[in-house]
Amino acid sequence: MNSIHNTGTNPPTLTTEDEMDRIFQIQHANESILARSTAKERRKKLKKLLDAILDQREKIKKIIHAAYGKPYAEIDLTEVYTVTSAIKHTRRNLRFWMSDQRVGTPISILGSTSRIQYEAKGVSLIIAPWNFPFMLVLNPLISAIAAGCPVVIKPSEMTPNVAMFLREFLANIFPENEVAVIEGGIGISTHLLSKPFRHIFFTGSPAVGRIVMTAAAKNLSSVTLELGGKSPAIIDRSANLKRAARRIIWSKFMNAGQVCVAPDYLLVHRDIESKFIAELKKSLDILHSKNPRTTDTLSRIVNEKHFRRLSLALENAIKGGAKIIQGGSLETTDQFIAPTLLSDVPLNAELLREEIFGPILPIITYATNEEAIAIISKKNRPLALYIFSRNKKTTNYFLSRTKAGSTAINIGTLQFFNHNLPFGGVGYSGMGKAHGWYGFKAFSNERAVLKQHIPSFVDLLMPPFKKWKQRIIDLTIRWL
Ligand code: NAD
Repeated sequence: MNSIHNTGTNPPTLTTEDEMDRIFQIQHANESILARSTAKERRKKLKKLLDAILDQREKIKKIIHAAYGKPYAEIDLTEVYTVTSAIKHTRRNLRFWMSDQRVGTPISILGSTSRIQYEAKGVSLIIAPWNFPFMLVLNPLISAIAAGCPVVIKPSEMTPNVAMFLREFLANIFPENEVAVIEGGIGISTHLLSKPFRHIFFTGSPAVGRIVMTAAAKNLSSVTLELGGKSPAIIDRSANLKRAARRIIWSKFMNAGQVCVAPDYLLVHRDIESKFIAELKKSLDILHSKNPRTTDTLSRIVNEKHFRRLSLALENAIKGGAKIIQGGSLETTDQFIAPTLLSDVPLNAELLREEIFGPILPIITYATNEEAIAIISKKNRPLALYIFSRNKKTTNYFLSRTKAGSTAINIGTLQFFNHNLPFGGVGYSGMGKAHGWYGFKAFSNERAVLKQHIPSFVDLLMPPFKKWKQRIIDLTIRWL
């Protein structure tokens, strides 16, 4: 028996390959039963989950806070509310989502009716990252339950206390053949990825996304890849600078910049550069105080590895000529990095090549809109792109000449909170969509069903192909 030790420091849970295989088997055996569950039954399960979250809200907050000091109010907004509101949204709409969708019938196949039937894909795997260790497990889980799929969940080993909590928390709500949490790192993940899951919902880095997709290809499992990348924010001359600055500081330094949709770098029009930078500095002082180390508004960096990565990237950028506008202080003892604004970052610096995923914000100036587009287009298609402008023409100019998973205009990050919008990347930043209806569809097969009611026109066109039949075919091609 080949056993794999979890790499997380906290829970010494040992999951063997045999154990993972057993869980996969019992979920597999349960998939057709769950697939036939009614909307009422699924809504009931979601209600149970909602009640448990509300019941244990304080405990959930303490556990997430303990991981890397995420502020309590931020946990409430980004980890608790996003999940509770997603459950409510799903419960409200589930009956409608599950119902068959009638589609039209072309004249050429008159006498038949067609519909789309949403059926559960079956046993699924959710692999989650550490930056929202609760919400990024629960949100896809809500979609899987709504679609009627059993799920194995592999939370991040970087936040082992949250992973351990999730295992116990979900085991108290769901039987193992419906939802099972398996803690652990790469070894565990690799074994799970070798199993023929019907769907894999992965949230994490593009590099690991590639590994997940390669593994999925072996079993032809479908995938949703929620990845990251470099999300720009453009600040046009016409923007309300005070408001834009405040909103950028809010969305960039939430979770200490460890957010997939955080603005990664700013493109600021040359004409407003100094005014806008002054506003950014003011907003930083207001939101996170002049002495950010002492406030309770900022998360720490998740672990030493990421702290070192960010410190080094900052150091190298400065060596290359970058200038600190504000911030720049680091504290190893608690892995604290002050919110940092930078100018003159060399274009080839790591900070402008790789996703930053931390509280460092490079500012680039541009002289023309074409120049801004050229800078964005040189990079991979981002998960999000933000436009701050009061000019409709300029906004449309940027919207029509760029590609991104999502865009918010005159605000950052908020697109994530609207359950009616699809959430996901494009190209390098991801594949497939999550949230609400789109999340339900990710775990569902859209089965096409056509029913023939009366003798069909097609009956006339079967072989042997007489001349008169060819004539009908010709007319069909011409007129229908
Ligand atoms: P990561 O890719 O390192 O890890 C994600 C998950 O994959 C973890 O559970 C990890 O155990 C597993 N994993 C890591 N290496 C693996 C391997 N070689 N084989 C199999 N599994 C492996 O990502 P992370 O550091 O946890 O999260 C940060 C990244 O996630 C950033 O790029 C960020 O933009 C992205 N992200 C995207 C979204 C989104 O919704 N699009 C949300 C949050 C984070």
